Amino acid sequence: MVHLGRIKTDKDIQDDKLVDPIDIESLGLPGADEFTQSVYGSRFAAVDLPRHEMPEDEMPKEVAYRMIKDDLTLDGTPTLNLASFVTTYMEEEAEKLMVDAFSKNFIDYEEYPVSADIQNRCVSMIARLFNIPSHDENTNAMGTSTIGSSEAIMLATLAMKKRWQNKRKAEGKDASRPNIVMSSAVQVCWEKAARYFDVEEKYVYCTNERYVIDPEEAVNLVDENTIGICSILGVTYTGEYEDTKAINDLLVERNIDCPIHVDAASGGFVAPFVTPDLIWDFRLEKVVSINVSGHKYGLVYPGVGWVVWRDPEFLPKELIFNINYLGADQASFTLNFSRGASQVIGQYYQLIRLGKKGYRSIMLNLTRTSDYLALSLQKMGFILMSQTRGKGLPLVAFRLNPDDGHLFDEFAIAHALRERGWVVPAYTMAPHAGTLKMMRVVVREDFSRSRCDALIADIKLAFEELKKMDQKKLDERKEHMKSHATRTGRNKNTNNYGKDEKHSLQGKHGKTHAVC
Ligand SMILES: *Cc1c(COP(=O)(O)O)cnc(C)c1O
Repeated sequence: MVHLGRIKTDKDIQDDKLVDPIDIESLGLPGADEFTQSVYGSRFAAVDLPRHEMPEDEMPKEVAYRMIKDDLTLDGTPTLNLASFVTTYMEEEAEKLMVDAFSKNFIDYEEYPVSADIQNRCVSMIARLFNIPSHDENTNAMGTSTIGSSEAIMLATLAMKKRWQNKRKAEGKDASRPNIVMSSAVQVCWEKAARYFDVEEKYVYCTNERYVIDPEEAVNLVDENTIGICSILGVTYTGEYEDTKAINDLLVERNIDCPIHVDAASGGFVAPFVTPDLIWDFRLEKVVSINVSGHKYGLVYPGVGWVVWRDPEFLPKELIFNINYLGADQASFTLNFSRGASQVIGQYYQLIRLGKKGYRSIMLNLTRTSDYLALSLQKMGFILMSQTRGKGLPLVAFRLNPDDGHLFDEFAIAHALRERGWVVPAYTMAPHAGTLKMMRVVVREDFSRSRCDALIADIKLAFEELKKMDQKKLDERKEHMKSHATRTGRNKNTNNYGKDEKHSLQGKHGKTHAVC
């Protein structure tokens, strides 16, 4: 570096000491090139992976595989991710079937009629599990597979909206201002459905004591423009089951013509096995449609959901497309067209491999593990926010006891656990429930008792360590937490467009993330 007429500063001296990295090519030695046999000896190992521009040249497949695999090791470990309901374990036989089906496009019914039929078998089994009113043995129930509950809920919302519009038009009434009644604890996909399809959202807000819908308030909100009420079997935040029967009974009692859709994304494969006497499904006359996520307690890897209708009457015909694709007519009601067949096949495997007995054993074990965790956390002094003994989903939502006067919050505990590899989210409760913070552990199939004990030990350790810290130390940790979150890439390469969007209930608190 040349510094004309200037005295070198400390910074200049520092810069002069910077390493000048070796330029391998200028050495002219035989060695690193793309034809080397070893991945880490190739020139690709010494440069950044392409990020923005598609590279001009190819790279060997072993190198591409290894580089991407290495890159992904900085992702969390799915089995330690206790934030999510989504399946992280399937048997090898199921995996084999699913890999075999990778190359099948599910929509191509003519080419893959068996895959299409397998979907119909799953729909029938699920509809019957939800006690659909008697169908004769040979008719298929009305329903479809989807990418997840979100797509299922969009379809159900469209069906309710269309049916309401048709009815209004037939009566010569205005059909331009549909609304839907739901709890403020709904999953974000309900807000999406309402906004994408221009349906006004009418909320029954949570309170500091109640984190589920109030049936009376919900029914009071119904007016002539209401297309339906959403009732949740397993609220995302606390796992509680909303009282669908009470909503149903009020509608019947007051002779109100309003359908109920049950969002059983998480509870649909739990309640029928753990609490068969709980009446939440098609046994209630006002329930017209139900969705469930195959990839949650349906025990299939991500990418499958289901929606079923009580009767074809509730799925207006104009929403169904008869696709004449490569020669065959087949009814289709989805938002997507092409998709893989693997997930539907994986679901069929689980349904017939496990049967009701298998699902029951798994769900009962999960309930037992979740009760055990709940008790252990209570003994440590945490306040329990979720149900036990199968009265809600097998998850544990908990928070610090405010009377204990801790200097740290739930987010600090979540961060400490993260350092041990566990992903246990801390989040703020649904709107109008004050600024209540809590944490949640979802007990999934692969979260065994021994893994649970390991988690309990780590929570104890984190808790004890945080209790020993003074305010200064805790503030330093908070700073560290913030910069850590940005540095590990969560915010690094994301597009900031719309990030201050405040329409979403979930977005209002800005702190509710990783809860899905
Ligand atoms: C997970 C969830 C959804 C969204 O389901 P996906 O399958 O992830 O699309 C909707 N509602 C509830 C209650 C959920 O728990």
